[in-house]
Amino acid sequence: MIQKTVFILVLLSLIHVCASNPAWADCTYNVTGNIMVLDPATTEDHIVRPLEKVKVLVKADTGGGWSAPWDTVYTNGAGHFSISASKTCASRRYLVQVKLDNNDLIVSPTMGWKTIFQMTDKISDTSVAVGELIFGRPSSAESRYNQASVATTNLADEWTHDRAFIWYILKTSMDYLGNFKRKITVHYPIAGLNNIGWDTTISLTSAWNGLYSSLTGELYSSPSGMYYHAINGTLHELTHCWFAQQLSGPLPCVVDPSTDRSANCTPHIFNEGFARFSSVQLMKTLWNKIDPTPTWSTDPLPAKRAVLANDGPNGPIPDMDVLITDIFGAMNALNMLIVQDIYAYRFGTADDELEYPDENAAERVGVPPLSNCPDAPNLTYKEVLNTFIRTDVGISGNSDWSVLDFYDKVSSTNARFTAEMKDMYLEMTDPEATAEPYSHCGENQIIIQ
Ligand SMILES: [Zn+2]
Repeated sequence: MIQKTVFILVLLSLIHVCASNPAWADCTYNVTGNIMVLDPATTEDHIVRPLEKVKVLVKADTGGGWSAPWDTVYTNGAGHFSISASKTCASRRYLVQVKLDNNDLIVSPTMGWKTIFQMTDKISDTSVAVGELIFGRPSSAESRYNQASVATTNLADEWTHDRAFIWYILKTSMDYLGNFKRKITVHYPIAGLNNIGWDTTISLTSAWNGLYSSLTGELYSSPSGMYYHAINGTLHELTHCWFAQQLSGPLPCVVDPSTDRSANCTPHIFNEGFARFSSVQLMKTLWNKIDPTPTWSTDPLPAKRAVLANDGPNGPIPDMDVLITDIFGAMNALNMLIVQDIYAYRFGTADDELEYPDENAAERVGVPPLSNCPDAPNLTYKEVLNTFIRTDVGISGNSDWSVLDFYDKVSSTNARFTAEMKDMYLEMTDPEATAEPYSHCGENQIIIQ
């Protein structure tokens, strides 16, 4: 009996030794970090932005080469990722790879996975915090780990940084716009043939800075030298895609995108005017960013009547018939929709160009408190967007697209944009009209300062 008890004790002891042997046991490892991008454009402060919902994977190496990916996860709104795995307890070195891809958006499909963190030496830690990994600021990688140069090169690479930044811009804009129906594929940047290192090569005329396909959700964009215009051009194509995705089918007509006017295809003109309007308003709304030297394409305010009548980029816009066939006329009417405090503005007449010789935009003037004015609708950009996703106003019918039809749709979906206000706002965008907003305030006692 004693012998038997001793035998069992010895056996239990052996089992215990086996179970606590590190070579046979598992440890739980956790690799965390934040994936960010240096923002070179929307502020002057060189701040960093989180890369949200990008794909991240972690691989490890105990000495025999890189493992298969432990797991693939998406970053959260702060750019944070956390990957855990139960593995044999051992010293390892780690690498982190990122791909600009999720169910809604992919930027530069040809780029694939990019290594953004790679240790040179093995460590025994089970909790591995690599810190902030910032595209455009490679020195950000956690300094207590020895990093291989391949990772810092990918964080430093100029085009990779630009693509990561475009991800931030597009992700933020898509979240704001909402209601996308298909994944957006972005080829950025693009150029003419034979530019090694560019995302893809397609033939572009010099007149085009971008292209989109409403059918495939593909978007092509090229930077044009200045960051404002590079972002604006990409958002232009994105908002074309968004517009197309609100409709139940293709627009009833499509004309050559290099044609700036078409009397026979106002839906195309409206679509083009909408993309110009929307790209400018997104930058203004989301980043409070306006072109420091606005042109016809980047001014967030509607033009004075004299500028419309005499200085349209595609030629004079003497009346509403021409306005609805002109891209800039359509953009102007959309800008007009969201003017705030409209009674503070003057639009002049087709002939009073000399009064404001230097500026395109309508003049904001100081006015005393007005009485007897109809309530100003003060529509927001978001309210204008909401008009598109109302299926009860013929949006999905895909016909009757012009700025005039759109004003009707806005009026029928927004109680503040009454029929009276609709007529007044159209009057302000009419080059032939002469009335000012304050003309609608009853008595002529209003004094313009
Ligand atoms: Zn366009």
